[in-house]
Parts: sequence; structure tokens; C-alpha cells
Amino acid sequence: MDAATTDETIQSNIRTASRPSELRITDLRVAEIIGAPFTSVLIKIYTNQGIVGFGEVRDGASATYALMLKSRLLGENPCDVDRLFRRIKQFGGHGRQGGGVSGIEIALWDLAGKAYGVPIYQMLGGKFRDRVRCYCDTDAERPSGTETGRRLKARMDMGFTFLKMDLGLMQIADIPGAVVAPAGSLEGYRVHPERGPAKTLEDRRARNAIYDTHNVRHPFSGLHFTDKGIDLLEQYIHEVREVIGYEVPLAIDHVGHISLQNGIRLARRIEKYVPAWLEDVIPWQYTEQYRQLQDATTVPICTGEDIYLKEGFEPLLKSGGVSVIHPDLLTSGGILETKKIGDMAQDHGVAMAIHMAESPIAAMAAAHVAVATENFMALEYHSVEVDWWDDIVTGLPKPLVNDGFIEMPDKPGLGIDDVVDDVIVQHLQPGVAGIWQATKQWDDEYSWDRTWS
Ligand SMILES: [Mg+2]
Repeated sequence: MDAATTDETIQSNIRTASRPSELRITDLRVAEIIGAPFTSVLIKIYTNQGIVGFGEVRDGASATYALMLKSRLLGENPCDVDRLFRRIKQFGGHGRQGGGVSGIEIALWDLAGKAYGVPIYQMLGGKFRDRVRCYCDTDAERPSGTETGRRLKARMDMGFTFLKMDLGLMQIADIPGAVVAPAGSLEGYRVHPERGPAKTLEDRRARNAIYDTHNVRHPFSGLHFTDKGIDLLEQYIHEVREVIGYEVPLAIDHVGHISLQNGIRLARRIEKYVPAWLEDVIPWQYTEQYRQLQDATTVPICTGEDIYLKEGFEPLLKSGGVSVIHPDLLTSGGILETKKIGDMAQDHGVAMAIHMAESPIAAMAAAHVAVATENFMALEYHSVEVDWWDDIVTGLPKPLVNDGFIEMPDKPGLGIDDVVDDVIVQHLQPGVAGIWQATKQWDDEYSWDRTWS
């Protein structure tokens, strides 16, 4: 070996963060973007040794959920992932409220991996597989199973081996005689609350009213499928299967605000089309109703993308109400918590799919858990049509999702070299002035937050 080669070998094995025990968090900043595929708040955690950790707040959630935690993290060693997670976990919640804690947990793992020079999956116990099977979600507005089937077939031609589609209320809501609904109630679901500043107090009241409509839980909506409605939904999935065949798994989502009883009627009717799972038929909080639903059908019942922490999943798993869980790492509590959730599900004979509708940062966080968890089934990929999705980061294979799989890189942390500011800045959320702006206003946020006395 000549001197130059020796030098190169030495250089390539030097950790730039060479003193992990002295690593300290110095700053936390965000970049708020839109369209990848929804809204994403990318997180950077900075350190005193030049390495930066990447995380992401859940799609559709506020950057505040992460920023409010900055003062609880400054000066800490990010390698103490579990200790810091336990400190901040009380500030997370179900749904989007889990996004701040979870996104930060991911950035801490990224830093720990970079500091010690190992991939995150290795710190979780190593790999069960080298690549991650992705399923691609396919939103469908128009009530044509044949058309949706063609779109799904195009995904199969791209290499995807696992599919998901919508099947439910809003596809048939405009067809006379398909849905029984209290007068006016369906109109509320057609409108979504606007983002951004409201002009007047009346505008705010109108927006809040829409929000309230969407927050009426399924058992209280008074909506029912008629037999005609159920026939139409069966016809839809029949047409889809006619196009895509039966060899490929097909999961079903977005059934709509219907009751347990309507969910059972639909599930039984579509059993012969062998869905991979039926997702979020009713709110996940109704453990006993989930048990009744699963007992009533052979279709695997699935939920979980809005559940925060392992203890949130435990009642459902104990009840036998689910056959597949579907956590989103950016809600569930991040990387280690989702690994624990997957292992707990495995003990109950339940598979784990992973929900993901965010940037490559969230995708890589999920992929590390996916390779390191035995009962993993498939990871959602929601950005087939986003042509700049891969360009958000450097250091990963392009495209990251190739032939329907993520090939797991063997690099420290998440495996991402950097984020690409030129790309990010072209997709800012409305009202956001810039990326990675100073967050000094959050440095001294303080409260005595012990939850017991
Ligand atoms: Mg879903």
C-alpha cells in the first residue's frame, strides 16, 4: 500500500465527530415545505462537532410541535436518545401532535449513528432483510374501478408488488340512493378547512365549523351505505381486480365516516376480493368495536397511523381487534418506539405495515425500522408523482424507491448525506419566509412540566 492510499484509507475511516461523549446539541431549525406529497416540516439538529441530524414532523402538522422542544434539548448529548425521548414524550400526542417528539427522536438517532459511524438499523439489533418492500397508495376521486385498476396496473409495471387504494363513502356519495345521510351532513365532508391566516373573525368561525364537522366520530355521523351503495363498492373492487388480477396484495383505505355495522357489511361483501387489509374503518380508540369488526370478517383489519406510543397500541393488540398495525413513525414516537411496537405486535401474531407520506427523511427513518423488525410487511410510498422527491436529499440511491423496493444503504445514521436547499426553497409552504431560519425565540421556552407531585 503506497503512502497516498494509506492516507486515503485513514481519512475515510476517521469520524468527523470524533468525540461522541462530548457531542452537544447547539441548535434546532426547520424548513417547512409543501407537495412532497403533502406538507413536511424538515428538522435539523445542530451540534458542537459539525454534524447535523435530520428529522421530520408528521405531514400536515405544525412546526411548533418540534420548535417548542428546543429549549429542552440544547446542551444535551444527542446520543442519549432514549433518555431525551423520555424527557420530551409527554409533549407528544396522537395524530399530528406526535410529530414534534417523533421527528426529534429521528434526528437524535441520525446524530448518534453519524457520531459512532453506524447505520441506525444496526443500533436496533441489525437486519432481517436487505431491502424494504414499498406499497404505493393511489388516491382515486372518480367512481370507476376500471380506471383505478389501470392506474394500479401502471404501478405494478413500475415494479410495485403491493398496492393500496381508496374504497368508501366519498366515491359513491354523489350517486342517488347509494348513501343514507342526515340532511346536509355530506356537504361538510366535501370541504376541507383552509390553511393560512384568516381575514376576519367570521372567517375563523367558518373554518372552525368545517373542522368540527370533520371531527364528528363515525358512530355519531348517522351515515349508512344502502344496498345499492354496497353493490357499487363491490362492483368497484371487482373491476379493479379484473384489471390487476389476484397475485398482488391490495389494501383498502378511506372507507369514510361510517359506523361499525356499515364497516362489517362492506368488509363481508369484499372478502372474496381478498384485501390485504381494511384500514381505519372506525376511529382506533374504539377497541371493543375493533374486536367486533375483526370477529365479523375474514378481511384483515388494520389501524395505527394516528396512534402515539407503544401503550397506545397495546389495548388493540390485546383485544384481537387488528390483524395488521400501521404506525407512522412521525406519530408513533419515532424509530425505537416503532421497533418496540412492531415487536409487541409480533408477540400477538400481528403484522406491521408502516404509514409514510412525507419526504425521504421520513422514508429512511421508516426503512431502518422496516429492515430491523421481523414482522414488517410493507412501507407506504405516497410520492410516485412527485418528480422532485428524490432531489430533496443527497447520498441515497436515485430513485430511492426503485422497482418497488428501497435498497438499504450501509451508511451511518439515516444514510442521508445532506438536504438540498436549492430544491427545498422552491417548495416553501405559503407564508413561510425562508428555510433554516434562526429559532432563538424558542431558546428559553420553559415550564415546570412534571406530571406528578
Ligand atoms: Mg390511511
